[in-house]
Amino acid sequence: MAEEAVVGIDLGTTNSEVAIYAQGRVTVIPDAEGRTILPSFVGVAEDGTLLVGEEARNQYIVFPERTIRSIKRRMGEAEPVTMAGQSYLPQEISAIILKRLKGMAEAHLGQPVRKAVITVPAYFSDAQRQATREAGEIAGLEVLRMINEPTAAALVYEAGRQEGKKILVYDLGGGTFDVSVVRIEQGVVEVISSHGNNHLGGDDFDEKIVSHLLDHLQTTQGVDATPDPRAMARLRRAAEAAKRFLSDHPYARIEEEYLLEHQGQPIHLSLELSRDGYEAMIMPFIDQTLEAVHTALSGAHLTSSAVESILLVGGATRTPLVVRRLEEIFGMRPRGEVDPDLCVAMGAAIQAASVQGQEVSAVLVDITPYTFGVSALGELNGLPSSDLFVPVIHKNSAIPTHKSEVFYTVVENQPSVEVRIFQGENPDARKNRLIGEFMVEGLSRAPENSPVVLRMDLDLDGLLHVSATEKKSGLSKRVTIQDALKHLDEAAMAEAQSRLDHLFGANDDESEPGRSSTTGGHQEEVMARALLEKAERMLDQASPEDQEEMINQIEEIRQALENQDHAALQEPCEALAEILFYLET
Ligand code: AMP
Repeated sequence: MAEEAVVGIDLGTTNSEVAIYAQGRVTVIPDAEGRTILPSFVGVAEDGTLLVGEEARNQYIVFPERTIRSIKRRMGEAEPVTMAGQSYLPQEISAIILKRLKGMAEAHLGQPVRKAVITVPAYFSDAQRQATREAGEIAGLEVLRMINEPTAAALVYEAGRQEGKKILVYDLGGGTFDVSVVRIEQGVVEVISSHGNNHLGGDDFDEKIVSHLLDHLQTTQGVDATPDPRAMARLRRAAEAAKRFLSDHPYARIEEEYLLEHQGQPIHLSLELSRDGYEAMIMPFIDQTLEAVHTALSGAHLTSSAVESILLVGGATRTPLVVRRLEEIFGMRPRGEVDPDLCVAMGAAIQAASVQGQEVSAVLVDITPYTFGVSALGELNGLPSSDLFVPVIHKNSAIPTHKSEVFYTVVENQPSVEVRIFQGENPDARKNRLIGEFMVEGLSRAPENSPVVLRMDLDLDGLLHVSATEKKSGLSKRVTIQDALKHLDEAAMAEAQSRLDHLFGANDDESEPGRSSTTGGHQEEVMARALLEKAERMLDQASPEDQEEMINQIEEIRQALENQDHAALQEPCEALAEILFYLET
């Protein structure tokens, strides 16, 4: 008889999953419709049918009183919850979710499932753990182990690891945030310290967008949607969808037709949200999580430099701002290549297999070993440059993947943009490998700072599709790069770099020959304007003598720009750049 299956279960606040480890692989088990994520919603339909997951979540929009969400927050409390007029203990509601997961596993495996490893947050009290165990029992599951969620995540990335390693697990879910410092050694994971906020997560981000939508309705149409529960539920759903979209795209459109009726008139909602605007809304939340990160580090008596790896868990860690801020603090890119929604269930499955005495190892995923991006105007070594490398798809991203970023035109009426695509890690694009370039011509006559959206799609075969679209007109151009994942070998790379250094006259980045002749002075103009802007910003940091000198050079540059005299730009620009350089160092 086949060995009895032991499944791993992530019983989450927003979503739950069940997984199994077999023959060195973890499978997250899908339901009959192929869905692996079960929303942690339970409801009773009007005809008395029990609804679990997606169906319950859909019902929540129209019948919140017949539906329970986020029951995990209530675990360990004696107070019952009410659903469709009936009282239930929190562990009974959780048991309904567990029973559904158990059923999915049985259908998938074709055998009964009686045993499970279930994960709980590291901060869960004894009462909360006990309630979770009871929920398992009510569902007909023997809970062999309850493991901490950060432990599960560490196992996914590091199972089987022998030498010691200190890892920070940053887990931002729908309704909770936890950060833990864990140590893995000889395959054993230990949580050294843990901190978090039980009421902070992606749902708060949704609420921020909802408030923004309400304000918009109020100011543009004089309507208050808050008293209408159905309109509010639709707004929440639209906000969440927009939030997810903004993780991969610089803009999201929100369209809700016939949202509600006001004085007999139908009210439609239509607006666009930019990622920048959204990030400004959620910045205070991210700051709170980072404070918790510091608390967890001091609880473990560690500084940020002692952390050897950062693991991302929870759907909300797909928010680019989270990744960016962590990277700024730790100077390394957090790892999120294993689906952050499924990671904890996968770790529970690995633990389940190890409880059964199976040899286990970390999960393997298809990732890109290289970063792909484009060159853009920005600061390089403290000076304005048009060769700043801006990553779009980062190294170690799971593939297939797509990402979009927004770039801006730099001069008024700019007729075209040049897109140069690079593979590599160096902030100086010229030191990376140029793998493609194209021009988008015929841009509409727009003011400077007009957005152009760049999108990259990388597939498993190493095909990289790149498109650039002018946002205002929809004008678009696209190229496909074959073999994007191929790389020069190390020797060829070193040779190419030394050739390049030679060409540039080692370390002399500003003396690239022949640039002006190919760009017809456009590039010089862009650089000069960037330099002017920076000089104006730094003017009050300079000594009175330097200030005078700077003002003279600024004036000369302005004159040259006005006269379209590109040759006259070089000297004052060089002089000004030199002063700025000394001001900064
Ligand atoms: P969890 O509780 O770990 O299942 O996380 C669910 C949270 O992650 C919810 O707030 C989701 O809206 C959020 N989420 C899922 N996908 C994304 C995404 N692509 N970008 C931002 N947030 C997301």
